[in-house]
Amino acid sequence: MVDKKRQLLRINKLLIFIFIFIFCGGSDNSSYSNIDNLTSVVEESQESTSDQESTQNSDEQNTNESVWGEWYGDIEIYAAPDVTQQHIDITLEWVKKGIEFWGSYGPLELWIVGDTYEGAIALDNLWCDVRTQKDPKWNTEWDCANGDPYGSGDGWSPFYRCVDEGCSAVSTYIQSNLDYWFNIITMSSKYPGPEEEDYKKVVLHEYFHVYQHGHISDPDDDTDGDWRTSIRNLKMDGSLEQRPWFAEGSAEYMGQYWYSLQPGVDDNYFSQVMSWKAETLSTYLDDGRSMRDIGFDAPFEIYDVGTWFIAYIISQTSEETVRVNFYKDLDTLGFEASFEKNFGKSSDAMIAEFNEWADQPISELVKILP
Ligand SMILES: [Zn+2]
Repeated sequence: MVDKKRQLLRINKLLIFIFIFIFCGGSDNSSYSNIDNLTSVVEESQESTSDQESTQNSDEQNTNESVWGEWYGDIEIYAAPDVTQQHIDITLEWVKKGIEFWGSYGPLELWIVGDTYEGAIALDNLWCDVRTQKDPKWNTEWDCANGDPYGSGDGWSPFYRCVDEGCSAVSTYIQSNLDYWFNIITMSSKYPGPEEEDYKKVVLHEYFHVYQHGHISDPDDDTDGDWRTSIRNLKMDGSLEQRPWFAEGSAEYMGQYWYSLQPGVDDNYFSQVMSWKAETLSTYLDDGRSMRDIGFDAPFEIYDVGTWFIAYIISQTSEETVRVNFYKDLDTLGFEASFEKNFGKSSDAMIAEFNEWADQPISELVKILP
């Protein structure tokens, strides 16, 4: 216990551990004023977690295994010590907008990386601490920072790439070998940085991934030992291996479209951004492959193609059909059957139709936009 206390003190010295509770569902009740207060809140919170741990050891393990999908718990925010309060605020603000627009899904944690290695290392340590407190089965050897990612590059940490390369991502941890299931949104200080307008759309885009994942209840079971394949991808994009066309297309469409509806955003914004994205279409059509066969390593912006594909489906159906009805049926019917039920044809037929339609001037394409 003494060791634990000392460890806590060390952690608190290393980190400004920001632990914020918000009430989900669009209310504006998050309250945090200054970091000193928060640090002490955290201390209490960590101690109670460690108390919980000792109860767990002697008692039945308290897991959240059944908790996934629609969720009204507290969003936890973990920010590196070099992340500013404004950076935290803007991230939370746009996650909350996503919740207001589309509903509350989780469990959800936000992890925010700053622009120094020291900050990211502090966050790596916190990651391992939080994970092992929440899930005694956490694999600390491989799923906590290991090796020397910041120096020689030979090693791994959840956040090391974010410092130089920037990152915005959703990772889901719904796996049969884990006791605690959760989503994380990771954001960083560049590409885009929190001062850029783009940052807001990216946060919405990422939250839409949380929404998508919230509609797939199958835990991942890595039976084939290949981390690139997942049974969850079958529902996400219709293929065992993750492909960007549909899931990225819909996240990008929803992020941009709902951003464009916000007060103060130019009326032409959506059509403007879609015009830029349309510039990729001719390269895609020349490539000749179906968009569903193209991976993240595509030699062109496959996200843009996917975004236009979603725009096309919406022009044939409605925004609500894609965003609500398709995802509502996804878990029970699977990708293809939900696609056919809601969009009236098979995904291959829709792609063929789209490819034919997309071969025209951008000025014609944008006419289908809302
Ligand atoms: Zn994405």
